[in-house]
Amino acid sequence: MRDASRPDVPRPDAPKPDAPLLGIDLGGTTTRIGIFASPDAPRFTVLARFPTDADYGHALDQIAHETRRGMGAAWAQLAGVGVAIGAQVARDGQGVLTSPNLPDYVGRPLVADLAARLGCPVRLAHDGVCGVLAERRFGALLAYERAAYLTLSTGTGAAIHLRTAATALTISIQVGHQLLDGNPLPCLCGQVGCLETLTGGRQIALREGRPPAEIDDPLFWEGLAQKVALGLVNLAQLTRVEAVAVSGGIALARPALRPRLRELVSARLRDATLLVLDAALGEDAPLVGAAALLAEPEERILH
Ligand SMILES: [Zn+2]
Repeated sequence: MRDASRPDVPRPDAPKPDAPLLGIDLGGTTTRIGIFASPDAPRFTVLARFPTDADYGHALDQIAHETRRGMGAAWAQLAGVGVAIGAQVARDGQGVLTSPNLPDYVGRPLVADLAARLGCPVRLAHDGVCGVLAERRFGALLAYERAAYLTLSTGTGAAIHLRTAATALTISIQVGHQLLDGNPLPCLCGQVGCLETLTGGRQIALREGRPPAEIDDPLFWEGLAQKVALGLVNLAQLTRVEAVAVSGGIALARPALRPRLRELVSARLRDATLLVLDAALGEDAPLVGAAALLAEPEERILH
């Protein structure tokens, strides 16, 4: 195992105060890298976008290669890297605990290995955590003390952000692996009956023989909306979040889905309200939130 304090590639200087940061959205299907001037602003330049390599070592090598290629000599000035990953992160924030969609990443020292390749501090969080941080800081969730972010993508992920006058806590939750009564489908996580068997892009593609983007049957989409809405109603009742920002490739490619979710959620909830909002940052929310991680105290995140 590499020692993160001794990077493979020497850094000529200590980072300057205005040194750039990287945000990386390491999704189950696609990886995106963005360069940020600050973790406190959502503006960035896309450095690279490529299919996520299922092989852990190859994926990290490719991230390092694309960073050096895109930044030239400036990569050695990086002040820090934030990574949003479509996987459950270990409690210590150093690697992946479970991931049906990226199984080769489980149990690896991802933070130390990436720090060794890029020669700078690295932070890691679930992409739902990064999404809710981004929407809470810059997007649709600015006004809410109890907020959630839901991504409908390769998997179905979420996180909640709870704020008081004194502090704030961002909590990763396994929304896709809540059980739906009567659902007989085995999930890639090992349970039977998870929401994600019906809403996760990978599990839909395995069952239907084609990705959700290629399915045009209105009955399929109504069924998916019904199941997602049920998951959101359960989320609202269990956590009392007031608003949820919805994003992810499946939601963004299907604009009619979010209005339908609004109708279904408000029709089911009686003694609570959950505002179903479009993520203002769209597909960029996890990437922006990954960079924002670098300004978020680690003790305010429950992985
Ligand atoms: Zn599951």
